[in-house]
Amino acid sequence: MEVSRAREYIYSDKELDQAEGQVIEELKASSQQTIPDPDSWLDEELKRNILLTSVDAFINWGRRSSLWPAICFPACCAFELIAANGPRFDLARFGMEILRASPRQADLMITAGTLTWKMAPQVKRVYDQMAEPKWVIAMGACGISGGIFKGSYAVVPGYNRIVPVDVYVPGCPPRPEALLYGIEMLRKKIARRSTATEVK
Ligand code: SF4
Repeated sequence: MEVSRAREYIYSDKELDQAEGQVIEELKASSQQTIPDPDSWLDEELKRNILLTSVDAFINWGRRSSLWPAICFPACCAFELIAANGPRFDLARFGMEILRASPRQADLMITAGTLTWKMAPQVKRVYDQMAEPKWVIAMGACGISGGIFKGSYAVVPGYNRIVPVDVYVPGCPPRPEALLYGIEMLRKKIARRSTATEVK
């Protein structure tokens, strides 16, 4: 018996070429769109998040916004410093509410009280162990000059005899507002520093 072959499912060479050409043309047409840049979102992020500034401004901003005071409260001015650290005057707004028990974690000494010569070597050692760069605020008449005890053989006539003082806050005792003003002066002083002069 002869097997009949269904010719209707057999394409001619020309038809096959046309079909293949059509597939290729459709693929080419659908491949002409621009490929989206996977990093295009970065352009918008950069525009919104890049801030140009100088190295000095950036470093000084960090330093003056996170001063960490070392504990150094030899006498009565200490209570005004403690009051300044409380909720009413709120030293935390300057990022300096944590009084460091270790001088190696501190960069600010606030000399809140009379200093005797007996205590002077210890205070000097605390200053020497503080991290660089470091600053000193002489708080109160005793811290500046020995105050009412200046004539005493036992009292250091000012902390600047043993450590370099950056800001003086007068008063006996100075109120917390005066200390805050002195801290603000120190912050302005830090803002004017140049890291270029620190490189040895
Ligand atoms: S300046 Fe006045 S309040 Fe401050 S430690 Fe001296 S005596 Fe005390």
